Amino acid sequence: MLGFTGAREWVYPQSITGRFTTLRRWTFLGLHLILLVTPWILVRGYPALLIDIPARRLFLFGTIFTASDTFFLLLLLLFLTFALFFFTSLWGRLWCGYACPQTAFLETWIRPLELWIEGDRAQRRRRDRQGWTLDRAWRKGAKWAAFLAVSFLLGMALVSLFVPARELWTGGAGPVAYSFVAILTFLWYWDFTWFREQFCNLLCPYARFQSALTDDETLLIAYDPARGEPRGAGKAAAVEGRCIDCHKCVVVCPQGIDIRDGFQLECIQCARCIDACVSVMDRLGHRTLVEYSSQARAEGKPARALLRPRALVYGGLLAAILALGLTLLAQRVPFEATVNRVPGSLFTLDPDGYVRNTFLVQITRNSASREPADFTITVEGMEGAQVLAQNVRLASTETRTLPLVVRVLQGSELRRSMPLRVRIQSSDGEIVVPTTFMTGASSRESASSGR
Ligand code: SF4
Ligand code: SF4
Repeated sequence: MLGFTGAREWVYPQSITGRFTTLRRWTFLGLHLILLVTPWILVRGYPALLIDIPARRLFLFGTIFTASDTFFLLLLLLFLTFALFFFTSLWGRLWCGYACPQTAFLETWIRPLELWIEGDRAQRRRRDRQGWTLDRAWRKGAKWAAFLAVSFLLGMALVSLFVPARELWTGGAGPVAYSFVAILTFLWYWDFTWFREQFCNLLCPYARFQSALTDDETLLIAYDPARGEPRGAGKAAAVEGRCIDCHKCVVVCPQGIDIRDGFQLECIQCARCIDACVSVMDRLGHRTLVEYSSQARAEGKPARALLRPRALVYGGLLAAILALGLTLLAQRVPFEATVNRVPGSLFTLDPDGYVRNTFLVQITRNSASREPADFTITVEGMEGAQVLAQNVRLASTETRTLPLVVRVLQGSELRRSMPLRVRIQSSDGEIVVPTTFMTGASSRESASSGR
């Protein structure tokens, strides 16, 4: 934290164990599995998770999404937004304490390394106050070297979401990819060695608007002053279950705040203070004074977790977006097709009395299947039309452009522009593309060709 003088005030959180610390380790493990393991898993030969920006493709566990699937991206963003709203309305900053990458990396890598190399809170504070000694210097050097290695690992892991991990780790990726690794390594290193909790306090926008998403019934980590006060270090407080002012909930806080001062913007709801107070009050045979609670509970009102308008609206929207996304996903066809007229040609009058339109049909397959698929092109909506179309066999992510010729005998019943449907079929599904057949009927007398 920055103090009033603008100088960095270091926070030395004491290590802690407990129920919530264990729970958070599991959620952090999930995040690490997504980041470090998923890019290495191959599903049908493709990475389980890869955002291929140049090719505008997303590989997700055997499904390939492309630019034509932008609607799914929109649904995903809406889903994540309302999920954030929903869970914040129920449990406050659940994201910050249990799922934020900054919290997860600090808790998984940085604090354990710091504990291992520099010792616990008291030893770190003492050494830092002593000024530079050989002992402090080698420990700081070792710690910063370890932080640099972790920053590099995380930089590589993040870029592995955008460049195939095997290419990246074997030196086969391009200079742009390694430039991003360098930038991310620097940013993580700066964060781990200096910025840390200031990111939550000064930069993160979520901390600013989260109070607008909570209400009196949101479960937040809070100190219970009704049971805890008057606090005191004496025996009476210990016997009566009041706060014994041991400061354990304060010294474990990574944000450097005192939960007993009430709700604070800096609190990331990490629950370390709950584990701390549980460890103290358990020994004294009392219930913890720091726990998940709500304003309504504190005032003795009946607790309603889910059955309240805010949670119902957010939950309903979340369910609707999920249902729509799953329905569309089930109907999704793993290829895309476009039909365009050959440039510069509306129609041609053939010498044998036919009007000819020539189109280009582009088919892009987006399937992770290694088996090639056959595509057939048919035309609908033009009675008696002659159609010259090619069938094609496409590999997994292959694109081909094929000519499609449609000819209709000239006659008075032809209109200038007639609707036409081009049906592209494969074993993966089918797509129907509407287009028009141009005849130039009204200008036929004055033109021998539509060119
Ligand atoms: S007050 Fe408690 S929950 Fe909030 S940041 Fe500090 S330790 Fe975490
Ligand atoms: S850990 Fe519990 S008993 Fe100790 S100071 Fe914090 S609230 Fe009071």
